[in-house]
Amino acid sequence: MHLARFPRIFLAHLPTPLERLDRLSKELGGPEIWIKRDDCTGLSTGGNKTRKLEFLMAEALAQGADTVITQGATQSNHARQTAAFAAKLGVACHILLEDRTGSNDSNYNTNGNVLLDHLHGATTSRRAGGVDMPAEMELLADRLRGDGRKPYIIPGGGSNPTGALGYVNCAFELVAQANDRGLVIDHLVTATGSAGTQAGLITGLKAMNAGIPLLGIGVRAPKEKQEENVFALAQRTAEKLGCPTVVSRGDVVADCSYVGAGYGIPRADTLEAIAMFAQLEGILLDPVYSGKGAAGLIDLVRKGHFSKGQRVVFLHTGGAAGLFGYDAIFAEERKALVV
Ligand SMILES: *Cc1c(COP(=O)(O)O)cnc(C)c1O
Repeated sequence: MHLARFPRIFLAHLPTPLERLDRLSKELGGPEIWIKRDDCTGLSTGGNKTRKLEFLMAEALAQGADTVITQGATQSNHARQTAAFAAKLGVACHILLEDRTGSNDSNYNTNGNVLLDHLHGATTSRRAGGVDMPAEMELLADRLRGDGRKPYIIPGGGSNPTGALGYVNCAFELVAQANDRGLVIDHLVTATGSAGTQAGLITGLKAMNAGIPLLGIGVRAPKEKQEENVFALAQRTAEKLGCPTVVSRGDVVADCSYVGAGYGIPRADTLEAIAMFAQLEGILLDPVYSGKGAAGLIDLVRKGHFSKGQRVVFLHTGGAAGLFGYDAIFAEERKALVV
C-alpha cells in the first residue's frame, strides 16, 4: 500500500510516541497498558484530526479552494484543528457549530476549543442541535460561491475516505514502532465518533495482516449504528486504496456502553478516567472522547476482558483543549484540593 500516491501536506509531528503506562497498569492489575500519543500530533494542541487534515487540506488545495467549511459540536476539536490548519495555509475557514448538548455554561460556549477557533481567525456560526449539518454546509458553500469564493467542504470529524487515509497511515506507523522494539500488541483500543479514526485504522491493520484486534469505544451512536458507520467508511477507504475486500464486517467492533446521557455529556466513569490518567500518568484526557474511551478501557480491564501479560495499546486521540470548556464538571473534586 502506497500512501504517497495521495496528495498530503506534511505538518503533523510524526511518529507520535508509543509509551508504557506503568502506574496505570499497576493500579488496574491487568494487562500491560500502552499509549499511542496522538494527542501529540502538533497543530493547536494536537489530536487525531491532524492526521486526517494532512490529506483533506491537500485535496482542498489541489482543487483550488480558498476557503474551507466544516462543522462540529460547540467544543469540536476537529473545528479547532481545521481552523489552525487553514491559518497555516492562508485559506479562510468557516465553522458551523451544532449545539448538541444544550449547555448554557459560558465556558462551554466561548472557552476551550471555541476560544482557539477564534484565535486562529476562523468564523463560527451556531446551529440548533439536530439540524442537518451537511445541508447547512452546502447552503453556506453555495452562498460563498455566489460571492466568487472557492469553498471546500470537510465533513464533520474529517471522516471520509480521504481523511481516513491519515489513520491508515497511523496503523502502519504503530505496527512499525511495535516491530522495531519487538513489542507484541494484543489489542488496540480507541474512542470512536464520526468513524474515520477506527475505519482508517482497521483498513490499515487488515491490509497489513497485522492480526491486532481493534476495539472502538463509542461516544455517541448505539453499537449497531456505530459499527455500520465504521464498516461503511472502512469499505470506501479500502476501495480508494485498491483493496476493496480487505475489511470484513466482523473486524469492526464497537462497545457503546460508556456514552451515558449522550454526546458531550460526561458520566462519573468519564471523570474517573480523566482523574486516573492525570494523576497516575500526568496525561490529559478530555470529557467528550478520550475520557469515555479510557473509561471503557478501564472498565474492560477491571472486568477481565484482557488477560494479564497481554499488551493493550490505547490510542490517545487528544481533546484536552476541551477541558477548559468543561471546567464546571470538575468543581466538586477541585474544592478539596484548594487548601
Ligand atoms: C474526533 C475525535 C475522536 C473521534 O474520532 P473519529 O474519527 O471522529 O471517530 C476521538 N477523540 C477526539 C479527542 C476527537 O476530537
